[in-house]
Amino acid sequence: MDGALTGMPTVPRSPAAGLHGSRCSGCSVTAYPAEDTCPRCGGPAEPAALSGAGRLWTWTVQRYAPKSPPYRVPPGGFEPFAVGYVELEEGVRVAAVLEIDDLDDIRIGMPLTVTAGDGVPRARPAIPGEEGA
Ligand SMILES: [Zn+2]
Repeated sequence: MDGALTGMPTVPRSPAAGLHGSRCSGCSVTAYPAEDTCPRCGGPAEPAALSGAGRLWTWTVQRYAPKSPPYRVPPGGFEPFAVGYVELEEGVRVAAVLEIDDLDDIRIGMPLTVTAGDGVPRARPAIPGEEGA
């Protein structure tokens, strides 16, 4: 039986995040997507669940439809959307679609929460106290 990896680990802080990276057992460098070896020291890396909490590092607006596949045109047709890099608390930068309706609201350094999306990670503004509001 190979069910050892199918048991869902409990992630109390952000069960919806689902961002699975890796962490070097030697120098603790975090990588995303997960890698078998550390990008810094080449040592063995182990799977690590990432918090998803970070800040916008840089961003741009995708104004034309990306190559398809892998991009899947939504049913309503292509609409420009923001994409960026989010620097997570773990120190790794993750490319993500920014789910922010008003592009004028986007600021470098703004706190974001990244979740594993449908192929590409998604980032939403982190609003303190949002949960339970
Ligand atoms: Zn390392």
